[in-house]
Amino acid sequence: EKYAKVMGVDFPKITLERTIEILSDVIQENRAELFHVITVNPEITMACQKDMSLRSIIDQAGLITADGIGIVMVSRLRGGNLPERVTGYDTLLKLLDSGNQKKWSFYFLGADPLTSEKACEVIREKYPNLIIAGRHHGFFNSSEEEQIVEEIGMLKPDILVVALGAPYAERWIHQFNTQLHAKIAIGVGGSLDVIAG
Ligand code: UDP
Repeated sequence: EKYAKVMGVDFPKITLERTIEILSDVIQENRAELFHVITVNPEITMACQKDMSLRSIIDQAGLITADGIGIVMVSRLRGGNLPERVTGYDTLLKLLDSGNQKKWSFYFLGADPLTSEKACEVIREKYPNLIIAGRHHGFFNSSEEEQIVEEIGMLKPDILVVALGAPYAERWIHQFNTQLHAKIAIGVGGSLDVIAG
């Protein structure tokens, strides 16, 4: 059994390390379609019980991870045995580390303007070999949104990091799925605030 079902969501039994291997492969493969990674936390799991559009976004994701110790514990009670919790923040840090070694390009969307700038400064200093293709804060109007989507589509980053909060990030990535031309997109909640310090 490769999946554990918790509240109707099929979580693959993967560790953080395996998650990063899968994502490294996706970047190397040069796929035509964007690969959407969703770290499914308890709030998303609850919300998608009633919200079928969110449910469908999760079903269509390239990869989901169990972002909650509760989800992992429930899987163990049922014999599903998810190996560990895989959070957006931990996944982001590992991706930055791999990206630093493999020179991946990143676009950072989200957080307030100052935090966005500060987080990118910290990342540039700590991971000097990765490429920051671009960044934009997460408080934009609809005409700015159009420009952001166009910019990301032109820059074609390996990884689009979306720090808009869940499930806003997941809906946003899904909405612009075909226009973003990133290899991977992942929602990371408040991770940029943490990185900015
Ligand atoms: N955010 C944003 N635009 C918005 C609303 C929120 O960029 O319209 C950012 C906010 O500044 C913060 C992140 O999204 O950096 C949300 O973090 P939070 O910890 O609330 O998200 P969660 O971990 O619950 O997904």
